[in-house]
Amino acid sequence: MAPTLAEQAFRDRIIAKRQIANYLRKSVPTMAGFSLVYQPQADPAGRIVGAEALLRWDPGCGHSVGPDEFVPLLEDYGMIAGVGRWVVEQALSQLVDFRERGIRLRRMSINVSGPELAKRGFASHLMSTVDALGLQPSDVGLELTEGQVLSDAEAVVKTVRTLHGAGYAWEIDDFGMGYASIRWLRKQQFTGVKLDRSLVNATDEPPGLIPGIVYLAHALEMTVVAEGVETAERREAMLQAGCDLLQGYLIGRPVPADEWA
Ligand code: C2E
Ligand code: CA
Ligand code: CA
Repeated sequence: MAPTLAEQAFRDRIIAKRQIANYLRKSVPTMAGFSLVYQPQADPAGRIVGAEALLRWDPGCGHSVGPDEFVPLLEDYGMIAGVGRWVVEQALSQLVDFRERGIRLRRMSINVSGPELAKRGFASHLMSTVDALGLQPSDVGLELTEGQVLSDAEAVVKTVRTLHGAGYAWEIDDFGMGYASIRWLRKQQFTGVKLDRSLVNATDEPPGLIPGIVYLAHALEMTVVAEGVETAERREAMLQAGCDLLQGYLIGRPVPADEWA
């Protein structure tokens, strides 16, 4: 019997995934085609005080594949730990380089994923990289989504606590999308939240919602970053709400380091 349209679409997706995974397997050993772009973060006065490193990959076959698609494949196929180490080394070397060029950034934020943290050696590699570059733990921000903490709970939480104890800041990414309560985050020793851009741009939520979240986070001594700020109106609303840092296309798009003015 011929497959239905839905079955065929499903099979096509699986084949496409396998193809991307094959390209990844070829790229990862030398990190060919991988690069980082940097998105600025501004304080309430509009000064650029930080950057988030975001991974890009050009498979070299003419098609572009975004991190939302290839990062889960790196995780599923056991390649994320090696890539994550490269990200840590590149992003932190770049912070040193920015500072040498007179760009005064307080912090570089790096996305990490659960399977990466669950593997032994993440914390020691990060700490030795920070040491070797002459940086301090406070120069680094680590971002993790709530789902990533829950998926590999014990091993992940252990790494989070070790690094928190050593002075590293942890932010929960995409906050407001899942089930995490601020109390739970505090128990896991997260030091801040990043409000998801769907929350930042929501127009159908009660007006007191974001100020309420910010108030609660601050009461628990956590910082709040608003992500996905695209308009002056949203920037005003996020500043009124008391957010500590703003990030989004309005402040700046993610760009390669040499385009960072
Ligand atoms: P994320 O950590 O939530 O990153 C924010 C995403 O929002 C980025 O997408 C960024 O380009 C996009 N963005 C920033 N400002 C705006 C805005 O104003 N409007 C809109 N519409 N979008 C905005 P990107 O670079 O495609 O990254 C997607 C996700 O891939 C990231 O989400 C993160 O979860 C993951 N990722 C990226 N780099 C890495 C990495 O080095 N390691 C790991 N484990 N994950 C990464
Ligand atoms: Ca992030
Ligand atoms: Ca996010």
